[in-house]
Amino acid sequence: MGSIWLRDLPTALAGIPDVQYYAGWEYRSRSSGGFDKLLGILCHHTATSPTGSFSGYCKVAWTTHSAKPVASINLGRAGEIMVGCAGATNHAGVGGPRDMSGGTVPRDSGNRTLIGIEALNNGVGEPWPDVQQERYLALVTALCNHYGFVAGTDVISHHEYTPGRKIDPAGPSRFGSINRSGTWDMNIFRSSVGGVITPPPTTEPPPTTEPPPNEDWITWVMNNQPVLRKGSTGVFVKRMQHLLAAAGFMNEGNVGNYDGQFGSGTDTALRNFQKAAGGVVDGVCGPWTWGALMHTIDGIPTIKKGAQGADVKRMQHLLAANGYLSEGNTANYDGIWGNGTDTAKAKFDNAHGLAPSPPTDAGPKSWESLLNGWKW
Ligand SMILES: [Zn+2]
Repeated sequence: MGSIWLRDLPTALAGIPDVQYYAGWEYRSRSSGGFDKLLGILCHHTATSPTGSFSGYCKVAWTTHSAKPVASINLGRAGEIMVGCAGATNHAGVGGPRDMSGGTVPRDSGNRTLIGIEALNNGVGEPWPDVQQERYLALVTALCNHYGFVAGTDVISHHEYTPGRKIDPAGPSRFGSINRSGTWDMNIFRSSVGGVITPPPTTEPPPTTEPPPNEDWITWVMNNQPVLRKGSTGVFVKRMQHLLAAAGFMNEGNVGNYDGQFGSGTDTALRNFQKAAGGVVDGVCGPWTWGALMHTIDGIPTIKKGAQGADVKRMQHLLAANGYLSEGNTANYDGIWGNGTDTAKAKFDNAHGLAPSPPTDAGPKSWESLLNGWKW
């Protein structure tokens, strides 16, 4: 697992106005974790439609794409800059080797060594707006300055990394072209790095379905849980049922309560919980109710072996809901993180890309995986 996480990007990019951070960016990476070594920057274009929104692209790239997470930073047509991942990402694919000032990018290892920037452009002739070109240079300049990259060698295009396979970035711009696809002349780009002006972008307002960039991870996770109601079925219903049991609104020892079917019994339990918690009693488990079930009013602490209490009990129930503890054995829900709980958590961690850092502590990444099954 790579150990280099770019959690200092806010410092690196502090001189650029209006940089945004996609919720969860600090913890997001490909399965290999952080970077192995940081050797430079790989520049891309997205080959996406001019009519697509920037925020929509970011959501796909980091949360739903089959190759998620794609690239560290996205750059919109209006110059919007959004950071999505502190860890390594899937953007380079096969290619290399390539010599950089700090060492050689081994063959097919660009994902583990290069910061990926994806800029929105259709790649087949769409002109690059000036503001987007300016911001591309500003971004690369800031990264070079902060991480000590030498622009002349450490800033490359996807085309240079894998010439027979990729043309990006390409298209009408101040950076010329080297082939019939319009692939940029990176020598022009590289010589333009540094000393650029950085006008603030005109950003589109974020859609209401997406988190504002500064929203905390707990709110983000709760907002992204599915909304459940009577008739819903599946593993999310099962997790909700376990949390209702952890809160004392279902009999913990009755495995029939954990059937993943949102029927009348579950509906009654949920309404009783909502009433007791001071919420709207509507039988609908949405963001507020998920948050109440997780008792987020106190935040969700990072806990570890030896911990005791309600947070441990919720974790034990979620481990059971995910199949890592026997659901019918109430001793598993004792709220004490002992050896049995630790073994189950370690297995869960191994299956979800959470080990070993350290192996079993339950922090934000663990809670997110326990709630929504996310594999890191
Ligand atoms: Zn590319």
